[in-house]
Amino acid sequence: MINCELFTCDAATKKLYEKAKKERIDTVWDRALAMQPQCGFGEMGLCCTNCSMGPCRIVKVSDDGPKAGICGATEDTIASRNFARAVAAGSAAHSDHGRDIALALYHATGKIRVKDEEKLFKIAGEWGIAVEGKDASRIAREVAEKALSEFGKIFGKLLFLKRAPHKRQNLWDELGVAPEAIDREIVEVLHSTHMGSDADYRNIIRQAIRAALSDGWGGSMIGTELSDVLFGTPVPRKVEANLGVLKKECVNIVVHGHEPTLSEAIVMAARDPELLELAKKQGAEGINVVGMCCTGNEIAMRHGIPMAGDFFQQELAIVTGAVEAMIVDVQCIMPSLATVAKCYHTKLITTSPKAKVPGAIHMEFDEQKGLDIAKRIVKEAVMNFKNRKGEVYIPDVKSEGEIGYSLEAIIKILDRVTNSFAHPSGTVKPLVDAIKSGVLRGAVAIVGCNNHKQPHNSCHVTLAKELLRRDILVVTTGCGAHSCIKAGLMSKEARKYCGKGLATVCELLDIPPVLHMGSCVDISRILVLLSEVANYMGVDISDLPVAAAAPEWMSEKAQSIGLYAVASGIYVVLGVSPAVTGSENVTNYLTKDLESVLGGRFEIEKDPVKAAEKIAVHIENKRKRLGI
Ligand code: SF4
Ligand code: SF4
Repeated sequence: MINCELFTCDAATKKLYEKAKKERIDTVWDRALAMQPQCGFGEMGLCCTNCSMGPCRIVKVSDDGPKAGICGATEDTIASRNFARAVAAGSAAHSDHGRDIALALYHATGKIRVKDEEKLFKIAGEWGIAVEGKDASRIAREVAEKALSEFGKIFGKLLFLKRAPHKRQNLWDELGVAPEAIDREIVEVLHSTHMGSDADYRNIIRQAIRAALSDGWGGSMIGTELSDVLFGTPVPRKVEANLGVLKKECVNIVVHGHEPTLSEAIVMAARDPELLELAKKQGAEGINVVGMCCTGNEIAMRHGIPMAGDFFQQELAIVTGAVEAMIVDVQCIMPSLATVAKCYHTKLITTSPKAKVPGAIHMEFDEQKGLDIAKRIVKEAVMNFKNRKGEVYIPDVKSEGEIGYSLEAIIKILDRVTNSFAHPSGTVKPLVDAIKSGVLRGAVAIVGCNNHKQPHNSCHVTLAKELLRRDILVVTTGCGAHSCIKAGLMSKEARKYCGKGLATVCELLDIPPVLHMGSCVDISRILVLLSEVANYMGVDISDLPVAAAAPEWMSEKAQSIGLYAVASGIYVVLGVSPAVTGSENVTNYLTKDLESVLGGRFEIEKDPVKAAEKIAVHIENKRKRLGI
């Protein structure tokens, strides 16, 4: 058995890992241990399977062995191709999510209605859609049509690129990386990395940048903006987090995955009086819906639904023995869930035609019949309550935090300290003033996943605390947000971790020092916030005293996010290296040379304390250059 003190700082995780071991359940950590040593060729990005002459590998550790693939591809070509394909896959995942939301908006009728008409009108205006004399549903359809055309339009650039500062837009144009249509950029990466196509690592990375930008400023941004339109723009609210939010006496439903169309319908269905009555008849006190991973972030932000846990806690939720159903859609769903669920009474229910898991029950979700299907799924969970077997153990570990900091919410909060006689409201001026005065040194986004190569949660949390004490505001999304809320960093009490300047800002604005901005697609909110700040200051994003960090990242989506952040001019510190280190040229290009091209670059730093030091130096250098 692994000593869980070493691999996580989270108390609920430790307790449930021990239960899992007692019950002979294998978890992600056990499988990671069994996988050691991991393949060095794969780790360095030096393995290629792009054609059936392969697989090929480049040997670096000795003079013997192949120095090129059978086709002649070098280490630079192979490493950059692998990286570009990972970025394209990440961009595809986010963008397809965005497409599904746009389709849901297109069909928005019946029970799913437009919740934020103001935002709908704003996007319509931004995209040149006339609104006079039209009702919200017609405008919604036109906005959705325009959003859907972003995926495959023949001419022009992505519409949301216009939100970026002019200097950034011009730079993208000069470099030829401004994306034109989302699907096309992804296809072009797959084409150019086919055997015998692009062999120039710089050009391969250029294609990857286009695909990544089509995620951040395309698919993800469409996903976020249209989710707000459909389901409401988040506002600050309190929420509980960690596996202690499961309730022994209730029917527990864990919603896990990414797309809010499913989770919104489940939340609605679980409030149905008939189903509540049915739950009582089964001996339960009620129905308790909780969220996991990014779906957890989405429904927490909009409904205050408890955040049950992050990526590495999904198996452990089932190990409690208290989960009647885990309902999943797409992305970050470990196939092992089916095996773990079999050891308990839990029903693993897949809902997307794009993501089936052998051993799970498949109940396909369709937005147009959303509530009816959701009710059937919830009923399946309710009827499973009486089938609990073995020991039910829910660790008494949970914390509370304030979440829901959409850009709109942040601007409203800033209005609290705007002198309305002297300055217009609705701007980022107070934030800019705080940065300029130096009370706030800068801001950092902590995002990304969990990875067994880093201690679970503690990298996110240590990094956040190190930044807070240096008067650097932290914003967070995804599983980084789960880590921070579990550690109490989204409560007002977390001001005790802050330097004097940041503590004062938080007190004045009445906010926690770590702001939860949502799910992984919601990193697009951070792009818009940075653009607003840069535009207000008349500079580019790359001039701002900001950075991003993904200390425990693991997914291809995280690689796409990292690259679009770099391409937007941001310094991005990764706690785990992407599989490119087998090529010195590609590694140097990503971690050094890109800065002179795009103003942003990657940094690889495993140690979160050192990462914070590097970020602080970066921020102070940016301040110096701005003369503030
Ligand atoms: S594309 Fe080239 S390096 Fe890759 S598997 Fe085929 S022959 Fe080998
Ligand atoms: S942060 Fe990573 S693990 Fe968590 S939901 Fe997003 S992509 Fe998945």
